[in-house]
Amino acid sequence: MKTVGLLGGMSWESTVLYYQALNRGVRERLGGLHSAKILLHSFDFAEIEAMQVRGEWHRAGEVLAEAARGLQKGGAELMLICTNLMHKVAPMVEEAIDVPLLHIADAAGQEIARQKMRRVGLLGTRYTMEEGFYRDRLRERFGIDVVIPGPAARELVHRVIFGELCRGIFSAASQAAYLEIIDHLRAQGAEGVILGCTEIPLLISQEDAGLPLFNTTELHAGYALEMLFSD
Ligand code: GLU
Repeated sequence: MKTVGLLGGMSWESTVLYYQALNRGVRERLGGLHSAKILLHSFDFAEIEAMQVRGEWHRAGEVLAEAARGLQKGGAELMLICTNLMHKVAPMVEEAIDVPLLHIADAAGQEIARQKMRRVGLLGTRYTMEEGFYRDRLRERFGIDVVIPGPAARELVHRVIFGELCRGIFSAASQAAYLEIIDHLRAQGAEGVILGCTEIPLLISQEDAGLPLFNTTELHAGYALEMLFSD
C-alpha cells in the first residue's frame, strides 16, 4: 500500500471526509486494524480564501506547490488536492512534484462516463462553475457537456459554500434551495449533477435528490484508493 499526501483544510470540514473515506477504504480492502498511510498538509483556510478573493492565484499555486513538495519529501507517493476549486492551480502543483497528482475532475469524469452520461449539471464555487479549468477538462477528456445554474442560483450556491458549509453550518433552508437548483438543472437536460465542491455532500445526499449525484469527495478518495493499491 502506498502513502497518500493530502493538501487539505480547504475547508477542514471536507478534509475530515477524505480522512474517513481513505481509512474506511483501506479497512475494507485489508481488514483487521489496517488503515491508510496519510500525510496531511492542512492549511489555514482563511489565508487561502483571502488569496482567492484578491485574485492571487499564482501565489496560491506557489503555496500549494511548496506544501506538496514537503509531503513528497515526507514520503507521499500520490497527491490529492482536497478541493475542486484549488484544482485551478493543479498545473503548478503537478509541476512541483514527481509523484502523480490525481485530478478531482478525472475522478468525476470517470464515473460519469462509466454511467454513460453525456450531459451533467455542476454545482460548486463560482470559479468552478464559471471558469474553464474544470468544465473544459470534463469535455476534453470525457466528452461530457456541463450545464450550470443561472446567475442568481450560482450566487446562492457560492455564498452557501463560503458562508455556511465551510464554517460547519448546515441549514434546512440551504438544503431546500440546493435541491430546487438541482431540479432546474434537470429541466435544462442534466442527467446527473456533479457536487463539485467537497463540502456539498455534507448538505445534500443522494436520497434527497431526484437525479443521480456525483459526490466528488467520495469519488476522489475512491480514485486514490484504487491507486494506493496499484503497482
Ligand atoms: N472545498 C471547496 C471545493 O471543493 C471550496 C473551498 C475552496 O477550496 O476554496 O471547491
